[in-house]
Amino acid sequence: MSAGLNLAQLEAVNHLSGPSLVLAGAGSGKTRVITHKIARLIQAGLPAERIAAITFTNKAAAEMRERAAGLVGKDARKVVICTFHALGVRLLREDGQVLGLKPQFSILDTDDITSLLKDCGGTTDANTARSWQWTISAWKSAGMTAEDAARQARDENERTTAAIMARYEERLTAYQSVDFDDLISLPLKLLSQHEEVREKWQQKLGHVLVDEYQDTNATQYDLLKLLVGERARFTAVGDDDQSIYGWRGATLDNLKKLPEDFPQLKVIKLEQNYRSTSAILRAANNVIGPNPKLFPKTLWSDLGEGEPVRVSDADNEDHEAERAVRRIQSLRVNAQHKEWKDFAILYRANHMARAFETALRRAQVPYKVSGGQSFFDKAEIRDLCAWMRLLVNNDDDPAFVRAATTPKRGIGHTTLGQLGDFATSFKLSMFESLFSHSLAAAVSKRAIGHLHEFGRLINDLEYRARHTVGHEAAREFLSGWLRDIGYEQHLYDNEENEKIAAARWGNVIDFTDWVADRCGGKSDYVDGQTIETERKSLLEVVQTIALISTLSEREEDQNVVTLSTLHASKGLEWPHVILVGVNEGLLPFKLDEAESDLPASAIAERLQEERRLMYVGITRAQRTLQVSWLKRRKKGRESVPGQPSRFIAEMGLDKATVKEDPREKLKALRAEFAKRAQQSNPSSP
Ligand code: ATP
Ligand code: MG
Repeated sequence: MSAGLNLAQLEAVNHLSGPSLVLAGAGSGKTRVITHKIARLIQAGLPAERIAAITFTNKAAAEMRERAAGLVGKDARKVVICTFHALGVRLLREDGQVLGLKPQFSILDTDDITSLLKDCGGTTDANTARSWQWTISAWKSAGMTAEDAARQARDENERTTAAIMARYEERLTAYQSVDFDDLISLPLKLLSQHEEVREKWQQKLGHVLVDEYQDTNATQYDLLKLLVGERARFTAVGDDDQSIYGWRGATLDNLKKLPEDFPQLKVIKLEQNYRSTSAILRAANNVIGPNPKLFPKTLWSDLGEGEPVRVSDADNEDHEAERAVRRIQSLRVNAQHKEWKDFAILYRANHMARAFETALRRAQVPYKVSGGQSFFDKAEIRDLCAWMRLLVNNDDDPAFVRAATTPKRGIGHTTLGQLGDFATSFKLSMFESLFSHSLAAAVSKRAIGHLHEFGRLINDLEYRARHTVGHEAAREFLSGWLRDIGYEQHLYDNEENEKIAAARWGNVIDFTDWVADRCGGKSDYVDGQTIETERKSLLEVVQTIALISTLSEREEDQNVVTLSTLHASKGLEWPHVILVGVNEGLLPFKLDEAESDLPASAIAERLQEERRLMYVGITRAQRTLQVSWLKRRKKGRESVPGQPSRFIAEMGLDKATVKEDPREKLKALRAEFAKRAQQSNPSSP
């Protein structure tokens, strides 16, 4: 159990009776402390199901489950390993009724929310609706209600947004739906206002572990406090230098408050980095140096100096991409790194992936884009999710509208408008209104026929989904359903380009296979024995779908090059990393240009967060790091001259930045050759 842990890590793992905070730099084994502590808690007699480990993404949760399984075997399945949002769903499904929420509530996706806000604010402009969405979300994640927002509004714009928020919240309640912020704020309300529920959860969770604690926001911290209660059995691990979600409401105050709110807090610092060579670590430490020190840390590595960090410039995006691909190909051959998955190309913004995708494809190098458009954002998947949401929660009106019109089944927008008005005036959901006797006064007879048919179909599907258990039955059910509603034909009818339609249909098949697999009943090899995965009904599985934002869990073992945003690379590591587009204006991102009306202090804070992002990027690398910048870069449609990021100079590479002189290299090679020849033939003079 103590294998592979240093003394400080062991101390953190063995501190079971009260709160602890592991505060340490990148690659020092914080996440490793969490997985080992799960094992330690189980060994100390805490049942696995009473341990909760909270991660930042679903992908990180999947990885942690795998690592925990390596330590404790099949017990790892029982540990609650998930994100704060997924934990919120659990709380609400179990106990949300006291807040008036049915267990089958829906989770709306961003698109649903945009259209709902268009409705609430009486606009057809998506950008306006999105800006409301952004503001409302910021208010909600700071724990504000619509009334709070109205009271605190500073100008007309905020007053309007607050009024729209009030309407929006009403609609959510009527639809038995929640948005992502509610997954934290409603459990918070639940636990703070209902003592019996709070006690139940505090009893249930014997220890809570939180990874990436520096990126929690105010409401998540409040939720954590309520979950652990006075006994305060929790372990938080984090690094203030890697806080990169300030723009989304994460706050370092949570780190500062911890010792104040929990005077008995045991703070443990880890100083040895096990991930990177000294050259890489030095560059990272130099970059983070200029930021103010919240908690001073020293970080060292005994993996040796390693290869110098390289800096390269490229003529433009395509040139940079070609070079990156060539570097990967040559490293893979020369250094005998046979695995594509040893390489990552990291960049600041999603759109930057395109040039690399093109170059990788041309060179036939397999890759995946992580942190990009989520699988669940694709229109075809959202269509199917709308159907599934409606099966689970008949009151979900946005899902009703989408499912009733996709594929077309004779229910037009006029009918839906009439049905909607009728539903609103009787305070019913659209689905409930379907079978109301008075509906005939509001909707034409023919339309009612179509509506009833649709209602019966939903009822029938719901009944069957509830009784469909295990992956084989689920697969059969799903393919029958798609056939019955004519979904494949719908894709081909609506897409002129057949190839695109075929790719969409491929996504649908991937999705339904994936859903079916989650219904269990498959063989799995755990702990040296073959067991069958837990069987679940299709309806149960569908309930959890809205929360899973990518299919990345399935991609774990793919041997492919990773393309990722810096944000999505947090917590991960690769032997070889190429940081690209490290230019002023990209990293740091548009600091002076777009935000020049910001006060100097806000700009300074933004710069600090960008610097932390660069630090996160550098510290993903284990063996080699290349940093590349663009001499010309695209800005909109134009190509403009590019400047290297100030962070490149801050890495303090000096010698390493000197461009290699081919003549010097040749000289060195000759000398090396002569030396080897001498060694293999010592008798020669
Ligand atoms: P980050 O700040 O990037 O999230 P971290 O602090 O969570 O990093 P880990 O990912 O837990 O660090 O560990 C970094 C690497 O070092 C991993 O490959 C891990 O297995 C390894 N490692 C951590 N501790 C030890 C140890 N005591 N002995 C050997 N290897 C270790
Ligand atoms: Mg980590």
